[in-house]
Amino acid sequence: MLKAASLKWREIPWERALQAASFRVANPLQKALAGEDLGLEEGLTLATVEGDDLLALVRVADEIRRRVVGDRITYVVNRNLNFTNICIVGCAFCGFSRGPDSPDAYFHSLDTLVAKSIEAVELGATEVCIQGGLPKDLDGYYYAQLLRAIKKRLPDLHVHAYSPMEIIYGVEKTRLPLREYLLMLKEAGLNSIPGTAAEILDDQVRRSLSPNKLKVRQWIEVIRTAHSLGIPSTSTMMYGHTELPEHWVRHLLLLRDIQKDTGGFTEFVPLGFIHSNTRLFQSGRARSGRSVHEDLIVHALSRVLLNGYIPNIQVSWVKLGFEESLACLEAGANDFGGTLMEESISKAAGANFGEYVSPREFRAMIRTIGRIPAERATSYEIREVFEHPDAEERLPPERLPIFAATNHTTMHATGY
Ligand code: SF4
Repeated sequence: MLKAASLKWREIPWERALQAASFRVANPLQKALAGEDLGLEEGLTLATVEGDDLLALVRVADEIRRRVVGDRITYVVNRNLNFTNICIVGCAFCGFSRGPDSPDAYFHSLDTLVAKSIEAVELGATEVCIQGGLPKDLDGYYYAQLLRAIKKRLPDLHVHAYSPMEIIYGVEKTRLPLREYLLMLKEAGLNSIPGTAAEILDDQVRRSLSPNKLKVRQWIEVIRTAHSLGIPSTSTMMYGHTELPEHWVRHLLLLRDIQKDTGGFTEFVPLGFIHSNTRLFQSGRARSGRSVHEDLIVHALSRVLLNGYIPNIQVSWVKLGFEESLACLEAGANDFGGTLMEESISKAAGANFGEYVSPREFRAMIRTIGRIPAERATSYEIREVFEHPDAEERLPPERLPIFAATNHTTMHATGY
């Protein structure tokens, strides 16, 4: 029996981890290694692993990652623009939204957003990611106006914008058909959309999180229509609140089915629930966010279930923090996400992360787990591979202790 607690788990070969696993877990993992699709029952088995079975899941997911995308860890230099925090939807898990009369409510002007985009490009960004709240009196054409304003000054900047919820809101406001509305956004400069507002793609769970949010059917319709128009999207799942492992598996299999048809997802991003400043947690309806154990399972499970369909699994460092992000990058994930420059949504919900992290810091962190950093475009086209560190590439002092090699997260820290 392996005693992983005393070893760094990345030093355990996946073959040995697989041998130590129970038959019911080793069997689906072998199928995944052979490139076969796993089904609901097999997914459920993997979603509830512990001990040696967890170690096998994580090590096999890491091996599949190596075979599919190699040893590079990619990141994109981007800036988040959360243009307003005024919102009428009232999601119980959201710590970001404000009423219009709240003293800290804001709505940035078009000029401010263009200026922030220009500043981002000057700092090396290739993408802006735009999402915001849904104010009651928003003009349905606002989303297109903002795209035009940015593209007029920065025609080459990739604009990754508007969740399916925002797109449905724009459709309702303008009364345009969805397809026409998306085409208008595309013509205005939309390059891709975030697959957020997915939370858990199960209407019963969604009702408890946010009864006013778009339904599963609508989320799928926006995504499929966008893909059919040549607008790619990411895909996401929020975990660590009221859902069960069964919901993770069904959600991932649904994404896999969509991807088989459209091929339009660039990546899958698990988003750990940030609980502290949310009504959902404060009213006792949700657990206190995700655990490290869940982080590892969700990232590894995504790699194994999406195997062959969605090649990129991204960690959300604003949700996980850096140490756990690195642990998940050794459990099947391969992308560190964006440098962001500012991120308001997770911070408002109580996350400790979300400020600017320089590309050099990203690269220094990636090297602590022996992998090769590479800057990518939003489309995952590689812009530059950094085989060797440069003289300036180092971690700031406040991050040094947690990244000391002997201190990096082990299975022990997950309760293994
Ligand atoms: S998650 Fe988005 S839609 Fe829901 S309340 Fe927050 S800002 Fe509004």
